[in-house]
Amino acid sequence: MHGSLLRDVAFWWFLLDIDREFAQSARENGCSCGGHLHASNYFRNPRGGPDGLPKECCLRLSLCCGREGCRKRLTPPSVRFLGAKVYLLSVIFLAAAMRQGPSPRAMRELGTLFGADRRTIARWQVLWQEHFPQTRFWRVERACFVPALDVASLPQALLQAFFTSRNPRDDWERLLRFLAPITIAGGLAVAIRR
Ligand SMILES: [Zn+2]
Repeated sequence: MHGSLLRDVAFWWFLLDIDREFAQSARENGCSCGGHLHASNYFRNPRGGPDGLPKECCLRLSLCCGREGCRKRLTPPSVRFLGAKVYLLSVIFLAAAMRQGPSPRAMRELGTLFGADRRTIARWQVLWQEHFPQTRFWRVERACFVPALDVASLPQALLQAFFTSRNPRDDWERLLRFLAPITIAGGLAVAIRR
């Protein structure tokens, strides 16, 4: 099952390492003012992960410009946190995907699995099915899928596109790296229609 890894603390250490990699490359790029970026991480209290998730795995990696007069905060992409949302990105994705398909899982079952109420899970469905296809991110990235993904089947269609190996950790990694650009401020901005 795609979800069993999400209950595994080791998976969250693995994802933290990917976030560290994102933070490192953002740091190397520096601030747009030319200043150096310093670590300015903060703790979050995410829901939907395993019991006893170590505090370090709840750390949102973030950076701050050290130049006087700038001090801009730069929060790099993440494979764990979706913007300011309380639930973890993979949980928000998977619960919505499991609602779809020929035998959708019942809200009650998903609620038990992920600790979210039915209204929250319904909001995640709206996010992936109605909002996500309109984002600038998707308008560009959809071209990478050959054959094209059926937008009406999002996010299940993405799950099927990425879960192709026999190694769920590799599949999750590829999917979450793909989605990481939407996790930053403005990452879910809607494309302007022309
Ligand atoms: Zn700066």
